[in-house]
Amino acid sequence: MTEQNAIADYLKYTGKKSFNFTTALIDMDGVLFDSMKNHTRAWVKLMKKNGIKCTRDEFYMYEGMTGRDIIKMKFKNGAGKNVTDDEAQALYKVKTRYFTELGDVETIPGTLEVLKALKEAGIKCVLVTGSGTQSMLDRIDTDYPEIFDEQRVTAADVKRGKPNPEPYLKAMAKINAQPNECLVLENAPLGVQAGHTAGCFTVGVTTGPIPEKDMYKAGADMVYKDMATMLEALPQLMEAFKTQK
Ligand code: CA
Repeated sequence: MTEQNAIADYLKYTGKKSFNFTTALIDMDGVLFDSMKNHTRAWVKLMKKNGIKCTRDEFYMYEGMTGRDIIKMKFKNGAGKNVTDDEAQALYKVKTRYFTELGDVETIPGTLEVLKALKEAGIKCVLVTGSGTQSMLDRIDTDYPEIFDEQRVTAADVKRGKPNPEPYLKAMAKINAQPNECLVLENAPLGVQAGHTAGCFTVGVTTGPIPEKDMYKAGADMVYKDMATMLEALPQLMEAFKTQK
């Protein structure tokens, strides 16, 4: 897939006349931070403590869903138990504690450079995450200084997490942007699906174990194998947006 073909396809299936790139909607876990390894470990620990069978890999597939939704689904399917919102919140707190106990996580190599390049090109960067993990949200201004717009979407804003498009629709409503002005940056199939369903040009970066083809299947317009590759391709991508037809 070339950048030129990707934008041509996007215009074709959306029926839009143009894509006027003004805004990047950026996911957090797996894009800004290499946090998925610890999240999946924490999930497995929580499930085991509650006698629910699971594998670590499956939590990469649920990435993007809210913690509440993951808990409700796993307890229902794994133990036949209907968890209330309050119970789910309490369990999510325990999972967050396990995650924090695993220690600090690194940033994803190359993401800062990509976001800086976007900012320099005059693109507004907006955080869109279903996460409510305060320790991670607190790190954004230190690890990504002067990158993000004040407006952001987090677990507190979202009723229906990814793959529902709600997080991206909320972000666009907050900043008054249209789908054909927004590029979504995601690392997980459910997140890609949310961005795609919201009508945005959606870029997947395979920073975890999920293969490229799963990103395209979920609706990605363009997939890069890592952030360094995306940084290298950014001039072509910007050029393709300018010269689209
Ligand atoms: Ca993610």
